[in-house]
Amino acid sequence: KLASREFRPEPTVVAAGGVPFGGDAIPIIAGPCSVESEAGLLEIAGFLRRAGGAALRGGAFKPRTSPYSFQGLGQEGLRLLALARQVTGLPVVTEVMAPEQVEQVAAYADVLQIGARNMQNFPLLQAVGRTRKPVLLKRGFMATVEEWLLAAEYILAEGNPHVILCERGIRTFETSTRNTLDLNAVAVAKSLTHLPVIVDPSHGTGHREYVIPLARAAVAVGADGLIVEVHPRPDQALSDGNQSLDFAQFQQLVEEVEAVARAL
Ligand code: PEP
Ligand code: MN
Repeated sequence: KLASREFRPEPTVVAAGGVPFGGDAIPIIAGPCSVESEAGLLEIAGFLRRAGGAALRGGAFKPRTSPYSFQGLGQEGLRLLALARQVTGLPVVTEVMAPEQVEQVAAYADVLQIGARNMQNFPLLQAVGRTRKPVLLKRGFMATVEEWLLAAEYILAEGNPHVILCERGIRTFETSTRNTLDLNAVAVAKSLTHLPVIVDPSHGTGHREYVIPLARAAVAVGADGLIVEVHPRPDQALSDGNQSLDFAQFQQLVEEVEAVARAL
């Protein structure tokens, strides 16, 4: 299989808008769950640039559990992400939800995010596989590691080698956190595949107080990067405020992650 260590023993470095994932550095992708407004996004992006963020995340098309929840700004959100990149130089990571959206999202994004709910949307995987944009492939919350790697295989088999895997927590019997961040899966995936593996402790825990400790743990277990949700006023966020770090907490996360990385 194209994703396997047997096929390619050496680690693959995926350049996401110039930022290398899978090398020695541990880049941190950060930003709001959803793009909400021009002023808000520029405030966040400007802060992240100064604070050591490597790339800007933000959903324009949002896969919300309820059809009555905020669905994202769509095309306007894409435009704001491109504006934030122009102002800060940070590459943009954003989700694409449907095959027919790939061209539109790829025109603005540096990295195409496949959400957990779409990990086995095979036509979508094939559509992003036909582009040459880096793809951030989130693990489905009910998918095994093998199913996750086979989802990556769909993208690779179409000729796009630029795949970054992302562990974001799975469903278990535990209810004290939103998901159970499966750090076993990071160790397992790293041993099976040459692709970079990053961790999302925001969706993995669902509570901002647990994001920094699990980010430290992710780096210690061998993650090649992190993706975290950040909002200047988390209590006012239009989605996922509970798990969004404020600016001071993001600064603390960067410092603590650097300390763990130095100790490895
Ligand atoms: C997100 O990154 O905001 C998101 C919806 O993530 P996931 O697909 O992992 O739930
Ligand atoms: Mn979110």
